[in-house]
Amino acid sequence: MSRDPTGFLKEEYEQLVSAALDWRIHVLNGPSQPWCQVEGKKVLMFCSNNYLGLSTHPRVQAAAIAAIQSHGAGSGSVRPIAGTMDIHIELEERLARFKGAEASLVYQTGFATNAGLIPQLAGEGDLIVSDELNHGSIIDGVRLSKADKAVFRHTDVEDLERVLNDAEAHSTAYRRILVITDGVFSMDGDIAPLDRIARVGHDHGAMVYVDDAHGEGVLGTGGRGIVDHFHLSRDLVQVEMGTFSKAFGVVGGHVSGSKDLRNFALNKSRTWLLSGSHPPGVAAACLAAVDVLEKEEQHVRRLWENTRRFKKAMGAAGFDIGRSETPITPIIVGDSGKAKRLSDRLFELGVFALPIVFPMVAKDRARIRTIMNAAMTDSDVDFAIDAFVKAGKELAIV
Ligand SMILES: *Cc1c(COP(=O)(O)O)cnc(C)c1O
Repeated sequence: MSRDPTGFLKEEYEQLVSAALDWRIHVLNGPSQPWCQVEGKKVLMFCSNNYLGLSTHPRVQAAAIAAIQSHGAGSGSVRPIAGTMDIHIELEERLARFKGAEASLVYQTGFATNAGLIPQLAGEGDLIVSDELNHGSIIDGVRLSKADKAVFRHTDVEDLERVLNDAEAHSTAYRRILVITDGVFSMDGDIAPLDRIARVGHDHGAMVYVDDAHGEGVLGTGGRGIVDHFHLSRDLVQVEMGTFSKAFGVVGGHVSGSKDLRNFALNKSRTWLLSGSHPPGVAAACLAAVDVLEKEEQHVRRLWENTRRFKKAMGAAGFDIGRSETPITPIIVGDSGKAKRLSDRLFELGVFALPIVFPMVAKDRARIRTIMNAAMTDSDVDFAIDAFVKAGKELAIV
């Protein structure tokens, strides 16, 4: 009897289910906005990356519709062949201006940016140095590289220096060194000390690459991101990567820096070269989102007002809200089961926020990860606080 070649599918899935590590998909019946329908129930959305509510901004929606009408539903090709339309170029020029960079390049997603670009920036004979808590797409990009790899302790600049000093003592000198960090870390909401990382990188002749997926639309003047937040020169942070899938409210990855970086990236990144380009509606929606960020500064201001209101009340109520400095606020409860029960109870009370448990965070650091939204009113924020306090008391968390 021959063995079933697909038996592992069910087996491995069932192992995940029995360890409670499987993903149960939550379906939204309609747009992602503060009050939305999840599994048919009206709840306050507290775990979306759509920080500024731009996914339902009228100008962003209208731009997508207009571009579908003028340019079609799909682009017809990959960017280097016949899939670059005027909207794609306009978006890149607008983004570069927004970022204050010489040039930008847009990829299909942030994941495709990291997976496509990182292995080209450093290869055989090079070294990549990465923060231990960097995002999975960075980890995969690093894995695709033939470079030597080293990690430094989370946000620990002295440890980064140690790694770079060790690299200098390496028997054969490295050709290039690439230092990579998230800008804002998505599990704890803490900010990378990019000013100090950039300085140390510079002193060791390394390139510095920041993934600002959670900093864009949040940090810096008008949401320009972490490089602007620290007023850093592009001579110190040469590669600023980001995504349109979070605060910009659409989808797409991007990288900003010098014209040389853009030319290099588009000629070398296999994800960019070999995968279809954004549909016109996506590119136009991204362009409109950049325009909204430039013209309507109230969204970023409102995001921070809501963030301060929430953190202040949650801290005062006795919750452990960690070391976040951003609109990502973890509500740390410790035990995984407790985090799941809290999430379930919050859902019953009308707040949608998911638990983050081991292995995504340490076993005793299970949490509900909340993400603030600029489109919430004061009373929406207060509704969430009340639900947390009620559920927290019932579960003896506060
Ligand atoms: C979400 C995220 C990405 C992936 O971006 P997508 O555009 O959604 O693929 C990359 N890096 C970080 C730090 C992220 O948070």
